[in-house]
Amino acid sequence: MAKVGFLGLGRMGFPMARNLATAGHDVHVYDPSEEVGRKAAKAGLKTASRVDVAVEGADFVITMVPTGRHVLEIFLGDDGVLAKMAKGSMAIDSSTIDTADARRLHAAGRERGIAVLDAPVSGGVMGAEAGTLTFMVGGSAEDLERARPVLEAMGRRIFHAGEPGVGQAAKLCNNLLAGISMIAVSEAFALARHLGLDARKMQEISAVSTGGCFSLTNYPPVPGLVPNVPSSREYRNGFASQLMLKDLKLAQQAAIQSGTALPLGGLAAALYGMFCQAGHSELDYSAIIKLIEGDGVRTSDA
Ligand code: NAD
Repeated sequence: MAKVGFLGLGRMGFPMARNLATAGHDVHVYDPSEEVGRKAAKAGLKTASRVDVAVEGADFVITMVPTGRHVLEIFLGDDGVLAKMAKGSMAIDSSTIDTADARRLHAAGRERGIAVLDAPVSGGVMGAEAGTLTFMVGGSAEDLERARPVLEAMGRRIFHAGEPGVGQAAKLCNNLLAGISMIAVSEAFALARHLGLDARKMQEISAVSTGGCFSLTNYPPVPGLVPNVPSSREYRNGFASQLMLKDLKLAQQAAIQSGTALPLGGLAAALYGMFCQAGHSELDYSAIIKLIEGDGVRTSDA
């Protein structure tokens, strides 16, 4: 069993760290939010009050934080964690970040004799809680094999996507698809409603027809069709719209850098931008149906 320093105990990181500890790994966690720290301690996790305490002697340091800026600050900033890690240990970043930032971390790790994997995930909060996440890993195949027992404690499917940074490329492609398809599915539900077609009936028919997709069948934006998805609990505690906006912007950035045209990706980013500006950035990304239905542009406090 490995000694793991786990940094970032948000919606995803908390259940991931808990699953690692349940699997028998020696997990030491850190999050700058005191409230989160208290919640972790209450759940029986070994909670450090400082980042250097959490990573001391760790075989693996895992980060699950909002953005690439946070990741680079943690590992490479003044007092960065990479300098505190032992040679031969491994840094695994599971946040969703820019491929260029991921490659920067790989390069810095190489210089210091520390293995690095970019290992973003798909599966959402429910997947994190159930330990059924999908990992998309960039880095060497040998490093992935070394990390496999740790990743398997948190996920069910582990893909080697390719070279350093390519795990993040896989994640950006996936979220580009998820963002666009959620808007498309919302439009179909809006049209169905206006044409007198029951939402459940529309879902049932299209799920086995050419329009079927994950956003329609497993994660519909209309409440009550699937129990326990964010739409059925007022769009709370899911994949926040501001994170979807962040990922769509990362995809746009990558498209510009690589000379790829992403017209629908650009439109999806603009719609999520409007939705977040209207005060809904914390709602799950499936709540975009409110914007499509015309009741999400203004809130009383926005
Ligand atoms: P979150 O905002 O709920 O949690 C982030 C946590 O990181 C917070 O608790 C914050 O206090 C902590 N943090 C910030 N700076 C830190 C630091 N320097 N050291 C340690 N902790 C720090 O976010 P989340 O929903 O858990 O998402 C985390 C990452 O995972 C993001 O990159 C997101 O895009 C990605 N992701 C999220 C989901 C999802 O469904 N929520 C799914 C897949 C991927």
